[in-house]
Amino acid sequence: RRNSSCSLTEEMDEIPFNRPYATGGELALIQDAMSRGHLAGDGFYTKRARQLLTDLTGGESVLLTTSCTHALEMTALLLRLGEGDEVIMPSFTFVSCANAFVLRGARPVFVDIKRKTHNIDESQIERAITDRTRAIVVVHYAGAGCEMDQIMAIAERHGVTVIEDNAHGLGGRIHGQTLGAMGAMSTLSFHETKNIQCGEGGALVLNRPEFVERAEIIREKGTNRSRFFRGQVDKYTWVDAGSSYLPSEVLAAFLVAQLERFDDIQSQRMHVWRTYSQELAQWADDSGFELPVYEPDVGHPAHIFWVLASDLEQRTRFIKHMAEFGVKCVFHYVPLHSSPMGQKYPTSGQLSVTDDVSSRLVRLPLFAGMRNSELEQILAAVQSFR
Ligand SMILES: *Cc1c(COP(=O)(O)O)cnc(C)c1O
Repeated sequence: RRNSSCSLTEEMDEIPFNRPYATGGELALIQDAMSRGHLAGDGFYTKRARQLLTDLTGGESVLLTTSCTHALEMTALLLRLGEGDEVIMPSFTFVSCANAFVLRGARPVFVDIKRKTHNIDESQIERAITDRTRAIVVVHYAGAGCEMDQIMAIAERHGVTVIEDNAHGLGGRIHGQTLGAMGAMSTLSFHETKNIQCGEGGALVLNRPEFVERAEIIREKGTNRSRFFRGQVDKYTWVDAGSSYLPSEVLAAFLVAQLERFDDIQSQRMHVWRTYSQELAQWADDSGFELPVYEPDVGHPAHIFWVLASDLEQRTRFIKHMAEFGVKCVFHYVPLHSSPMGQKYPTSGQLSVTDDVSSRLVRLPLFAGMRNSELEQILAAVQSFR
């Protein structure tokens, strides 16, 4: 199973990059959802999940969706984006950021990221704005917040909408403000690789009341079914374009079991993150790696622990070395602007930081439920890399 020349690791288990965490409370809540005789969306557990997410995000309205991808698609529909419209975003992000707008005929415009945080470089946004720009999508990479005050000011000056892709940042803060609460809307993911998960899932957080009613309609196949259930109309009917973005109560129940243990999950992840940060600092100095160091008022939620190798060759050797010690480490986004699809779209200037960081970044395993012996095995494996 493993390189037998590593006698040190012979009786150790393989450590995956991510092991989806379960609190132990999920099955009981799913069973309860089944006993309630309502398994489609928007039942008891969806309401409970909405409440817990509203408390965490401070959003005006939180709508559970089937994924973060779908929440992003909803933002494009809400803003009525289409042919000729442009949306500014980092290239160092997940494909869904771009796809959501490409599906509507709009064009992504890629902007470079910053070295310390790998977030969109706010100083380069303004020159990417044209009279066709309709929105700016920011990604709080690893949950370390973007400079939202500056980004919001730029957006206001030019009359464009800010969307926060907050898939990494639930519970995070920047300069005292909650991630996902500053843009007009923000999106969350509950994919199994995220801090809080239900296998596949997401949410759209609306921070402006004017978007709420239409978002409910878009999410409910273009009907006013939500208003009907609240008794605001006496029959429901097709009123706008829409789709089906509701997760079932089975998934909502699973999600509630996780959200109810939010603090516990976060403190487990933070323990792993801080241990890496403390125990690997000397090793990083000695071996030419860089570790994440954030400003004091960046309150990240321990979503990713990355290390930056000095070059691609060293990263490749590092990933191979870790695998030989039974530890799965992975790099991250292939920049969208260099992908076969992304090459069709414009970049704003040279994306040199994006190209550089994406070729050197690697992520260490980080999940709640990591055993102490696993953490020690990972530290020993990293520290033995020269
Ligand atoms: C995971 C992720 C997504 C997509 O989430 P899904 O729920 O899988 O659709 C989008 N954006 C970012 C930044 C992500 O990390």
